[in-house]
Amino acid sequence: MKHDIIIIGAGLGGLTAGAKLAKEGKKVLLLEQHDRPGGCATTFQRKDFTLEVGLHEMDGPHARDLKVKIFRDLGLTEKVSLLGLPEFYRFVNGRQNVVVPHNPEEAERRLAELFPGEAQGLKTYFNHVLNSRKIIAESAGLPERSLGDFLDEHIGNEDLKLILLGNLGYFHDDPYSISLNYYLVAQGSYYGGNASFIKGGSQILSNALVSVIEANGGTVKLNTLATAIIFEEDRPVGVSYETIMGKNKQSFTDLATEIIVNASVPTLAKELLPEGQRQILLEKIKDLKPGASLLTVYFGFKKPLKEVGNPYYSTFVFDPTIKTQKDIAGNNHSGFETRGFTLVDYSQVDSELAPEGKSVGAVCCIDYASDWEGMDRKAYLKKKAEVAETIIARCEKLIPGFRDAVEYVETGTPLTVRRYTLNPEGAVYGFAQNPGKTTDYLSVLPANLHIASAWGKFGGGFSGSIFSGYMTALDVLRKR
Ligand SMILES: Cc1cc2nc3c(=O)[nH]c(=O)nc-3n(C[C@H](O)[C@H](O)[C@H](O)COP(=O)(O)OP(=O)(O)OC[C@H]3O[C@@H](n4cnc5c(N)ncnc54)[C@H](O)[C@@H]3O)c2cc1C
Repeated sequence: MKHDIIIIGAGLGGLTAGAKLAKEGKKVLLLEQHDRPGGCATTFQRKDFTLEVGLHEMDGPHARDLKVKIFRDLGLTEKVSLLGLPEFYRFVNGRQNVVVPHNPEEAERRLAELFPGEAQGLKTYFNHVLNSRKIIAESAGLPERSLGDFLDEHIGNEDLKLILLGNLGYFHDDPYSISLNYYLVAQGSYYGGNASFIKGGSQILSNALVSVIEANGGTVKLNTLATAIIFEEDRPVGVSYETIMGKNKQSFTDLATEIIVNASVPTLAKELLPEGQRQILLEKIKDLKPGASLLTVYFGFKKPLKEVGNPYYSTFVFDPTIKTQKDIAGNNHSGFETRGFTLVDYSQVDSELAPEGKSVGAVCCIDYASDWEGMDRKAYLKKKAEVAETIIARCEKLIPGFRDAVEYVETGTPLTVRRYTLNPEGAVYGFAQNPGKTTDYLSVLPANLHIASAWGKFGGGFSGSIFSGYMTALDVLRKR
């Protein structure tokens, strides 16, 4: 069958591209290997709890937020409710216990009150975060710096640096190897004055995007693995795929004028391209590394966690042994007794994820697939249970009564993320955003083969993937 566009992967990048193109009258076929759309933007049901796979905080909506325009254009505003979050985050490390607001002026004021000697450094930090595009343009041509070097130059107090780095895990695992420019744009959007959670969980957004595709004549095939992009000479002309129904596999090849890849760029290079094309792309990405993965302990609680005594939506806990920002990278490889984590208490904003009187939450840390590989199933399950127990003990210290409130617990590792997204090493934010990283690899792709995902121009997270999908759709529409 011939389509205008075939999209490989129903993560947010693929879904957004598909929704925009279908709405503009293109015939879209979207292939997704999992049994539900969304990639990282999904939920799953356990007992009577709806557990959110990934979303803690989506930056925006705010005045400069492109998502506002995208949601309006795709008719999502009526289908998806965004719940504003009460604070950016609370940070605790045994020495400090600070709530960082979303409003940048308030955040600067609060931190300057706590660290009066650092007022000038804080001014510089917030000026950079809020005026990132201008500052990046001014530094064009200069070697890119790391966030860690920038903080060392402008802030003296190590605890203040750690507070500012509380949510580093939203982007990367080490302040000294994340591009300052990338961080400034991403953090600037969180400090735009708002952040949100999707009412009912991120699956609502993913399903809404599917409904836009289908309402406009497009097709979304779940349980369908793309196995190869078919070329005629140097031009992609279609996709071969397998639809899996229980033990039955059926193979198909469909043709399309344009092909959009939401699957990871390493997956494209290693598994989907034919030999000659594969070598060209592999050569281009050989120095790029997939970014960090995440481990999540999902909780269903017998009662709202706020009734147990937790007043915060998002709490970042750094172990007291993290004394300077130089300790962060090592800590992310340490045991779960000391590794930094964030506790998300959805009951603060969304009571729809659990039946009345109950609630859900999650604890999340940076983690690495390599630490979970090579175990047999028994050892893997044992380690998952031990990690959950360690995390519960740490949460009990933070919120006495936490343990008794737990009704359901389940741990998802980087291998879980890899299994459901096929992203190498379970990476959740695409390639690591190291200083000097470029997207040159996009330039070697044939003109009708596009990337719409966290591995594209805008990086990872909900916003990066949505922007990538929408901009890719505009590129395709402009061409034609
Ligand atoms: C635990 C966790 C917490 C997170 N927290 C936040 C947060 O608070 N805020 C935020 O902004 N972001 C967060 N993120 C990151 C964010 O969810 C991701 O960066 C973003 O959703 C990635 O979108 P994507 O379009 O790149 O696709 P992905 O979500 O990576 O999905 C890719 C899709 O392609 C499919 N696929 C791959 N190969 C094939 C193939 N060959 N054939 C068919 N289908 C294929 C996969 O099955 C998958 O559905 C979190 C992620 C996780 C896992």
